[in-house]
Amino acid sequence: MICAYCDRPLICDACGAEFRAVDPRQYEAMSRAEVAIDCPECEAILICHWCKTPYDGRDETEEG
Ligand SMILES: [Zn+2]
Ligand SMILES: [Zn+2]
Repeated sequence: MICAYCDRPLICDACGAEFRAVDPRQYEAMSRAEVAIDCPECEAILICHWCKTPYDGRDETEEG
């Protein structure tokens, strides 16, 4: 699984586990970044270890 934002292997910032999409639907959701993704290991909102982008389903280019 590659981070949609920084193109590095996606690692959970909270627990350090490498994240793998469990099914194609989830992968598609992540590429659109509109759906919140939880880390399957620690169940926190997934945050990219490298670029610190949270996969919380919010578009960070939009304020509010
Ligand atoms: Zn990243
Ligand atoms: Zn985790």
